[in-house]
Parts: sequence; C-alpha cells; structure tokens
Amino acid sequence: MASNRTLLVLPGDGIGPEVMNEVRKIIAWMGKKRAVGFDIQEDVVGGAALDKHGVPLSDDTMKLALEADAVLFGSVGGPKWDTADFSKKPERGLLRLRKEMDLFANLRPAKVFDALVDASSLKPEIVKGLDIMIIRELTSGVYFGEPRGRHTNAQGEVEAFDTQRYTAGEIRRVCAVAFELARKRKNKVLSAEKANVMHTGVLWREEATKLHKEQYADVKLEHMYADALAMQLLRSPNQFDVIVTDNLFGDILSDEASMLTGSLGLLPSASLGAPDATGRRKALYEPIHGSAPDIAGKGLANPIAETLSYAMMLRYSFDLGREADLVEQAVENVLAAGYRTGDLMVGKTEGTKKVGTQEMGDAIVRELDRLA
Ligand code: NAD
Repeated sequence: MASNRTLLVLPGDGIGPEVMNEVRKIIAWMGKKRAVGFDIQEDVVGGAALDKHGVPLSDDTMKLALEADAVLFGSVGGPKWDTADFSKKPERGLLRLRKEMDLFANLRPAKVFDALVDASSLKPEIVKGLDIMIIRELTSGVYFGEPRGRHTNAQGEVEAFDTQRYTAGEIRRVCAVAFELARKRKNKVLSAEKANVMHTGVLWREEATKLHKEQYADVKLEHMYADALAMQLLRSPNQFDVIVTDNLFGDILSDEASMLTGSLGLLPSASLGAPDATGRRKALYEPIHGSAPDIAGKGLANPIAETLSYAMMLRYSFDLGREADLVEQAVENVLAAGYRTGDLMVGKTEGTKKVGTQEMGDAIVRELDRLA
C-alpha cells in the first residue's frame, strides 16, 4: 500500500529472514485491516551483503537507511563468515548503521508476560507484572572515548587503557529521551551511574538533575549507583519504570534485565537518534537476539522478538500507539492460549502447544483478526 511512511527492511542472516517473514504477515494485515501502509524497501546486510557486495553494508544500503523513516532489522552473523577480516565481519554492518544514523538512545524493554512467569530464572512473585524500560546511551562513553589502546610502559610492562568520556550534551539528550518516555508510562525515571567514584558519574548526575528541574519536573527522578541497581534488579525489579544509564553500565544492566523475562526470543529493542526540525528521529528496530545458527533454517525460531520490534516501530516512529497495543495484545493472548516455540518450553509446560516459526506467526495474525 502506498503511503508517506518509508520503511527499510533488512532481514540479514540466519533466523533473521525467517522471523521477518512472520512480521511481513502482520504488516500485510495492518495494511488491509487498519489502512496502515508503508513504502517498503528491502536490502541485504551482514553476511548476505558480504556475499553479494563484498562488504557487510553497502553505501547504497546506508543511504536508504538514512532516508527511511525507520529501519526494521533482523539479525546478522554466522559461522560461514567467522573467518572474515575484522573490518568485514557481518556485525560491522550493524555498527555502521548505528554510527552513521547517530542512534544514541537504545531502548530495551523487559516485560514479563503472565503466561510465562514461570520461565524466568527468578521466583514468579518477584517478576510477576514486570514492565521496565532500560535506556542505554549507545554512541559515546568508554567504548568510544580516546585515548584508547595498549603499549609497553616505562617499567617495561604491557598496559591497556580505555577512556570513559561524556559531554554534558550527550548526557542531556539521552536523559531527555528517558523523561519523554516516562511521561507515556508510569512517569518515573531512575538514573544510574557511579558518581561516588567517577567524574563522568558526577557530571551525569548533575546534568540529569538540571534537565529534570528545567524541563521535566513533573516526572519523578531518582538516582542510584549502577552496582546497587544491579542488585535491586534481582531483588525487586518491579520498583522501576524507566531506567537511564551510560553505554557500559547499560550494556550489562540491560542484559541482566532481559534474563528476568525468560527467553531471548521475546525481546525487542529500538535505537533512536536526535529529532530533526520536523520532530522525526532516525530509528532502527531489532530483536536483541542474534542469528541463532544452531536453529537457522529449521523453522524453529521464535518470531515474537521481531514482532514486538515492529510494534515498537509503530509506537515510536509512527505514533501508532493503538496499533502497537493491538500487536502486543495479540502476542500476549497467543502466549496465554499456550502457543510456545521451543525456546519457551521451560518451567511449567502443561496445557501448552509446541509450535514452529510459521505456526506462531499465523496464530498471532489469527488473534489480530479476533481482536479487531
Ligand atoms: P544468538 O542470540 O544468535 O543465540 C543464542 C541462543 O539463543 C541460541 O541457542 C539460539 O538458538 C537462541 N535463540 C536466539 N534467538 C532465538 C529465537 N528468536 N528463537 C529461538 N531461539 C533463539 O547469539 P549467539 O549464538 O551468541 O550468536 C550467533 C550469531 O549471531 C553470531 O554470529 C553473533 O555474532 C551474531 N549476533 C548478532 C546480533 C545482531 O544481529 N544484533 C546479536 C547477537 C549476536
């Protein structure tokens, strides 16, 4: 369906194309039943691009990504390309997209569906109803700060070093995303750093506090040291709504939070850039899982993480909150009805039905039909 919404679809490698096929069914359903259409371009990335163009992301694909309203990404990588030169590894394709689109805010929801409360590694009473959003700063901090490297020091010993560096502006822009998002949720932000031992932590806390006072005083803001937060996430995760933190702490804490929910196959993410003059942000949506070479091509992959990434795209890039709610509700109902891909066959499995990728996708579309 023609529309003024442009979407670049990059299925990638391994299970990426398989789970993307299921999302295509939902895209078609939305076009037909809700008149939500996209001008869709599709291209190769990762190993598939390496095979076709000799690079993990071509300049032409990069251009399409920069022009699109949103990019829906699958996954990249696999044993076939393990021996590729470092600069040509499939994952470099994703890193280039993130860098050139300047996607500085990484949104990682961790939500526990009632039907899967037993699949968590924590007790059901601790994770029941869990619904938190971790926002990780993605383009600065210790993974990018200079100087970095290794050398032999004056004592003749090899030493290696990285630099944690943040500007006030980098902190403010990611905190602003957290406050904006909190306003649409439970209106609570927890900002995490190590202001007790790090200069960047002190600046982080100062800037979060200043921005809050200037523009977001209606949102509740709390601060916590990142190590204390790591403990609290396991002790009582339900106390949190939106959490914002830097690149390194966010990397670790968002992985920890994702494990509260059960399976990698369920977890979506969004990476957002700065708004332009029209308010449009560059954006890329992807499941947090990789290309899962161990199950690729077997019809076993869980398409829910990709489906929920698509729902995030509807919500954050196109302001289609009702349609996003509908997709999320359909997923929740299908899980409640007992449909399970193999990765979800943990904990209590009585009354469940083991299904493959396509059956799961079809069940979600049938549920959309029922709900609409
Ligand atoms: P992975 O996420 O691909 O797989 C980890 C485990 O989870 C595997 O057992 C896999 O079968 C399972 N799993 C993952 N997604 C699933 C799904 N949707 N349904 C059912 N089971 C699922 O991580 P890995 O094995 O460490 O990496 C495999 C490849 O993916 C590597 O080449 C890695 O570099 C790449 N990778 C890519 C991305 C990305 O594209 N963003 C992210 C992580 C890893």
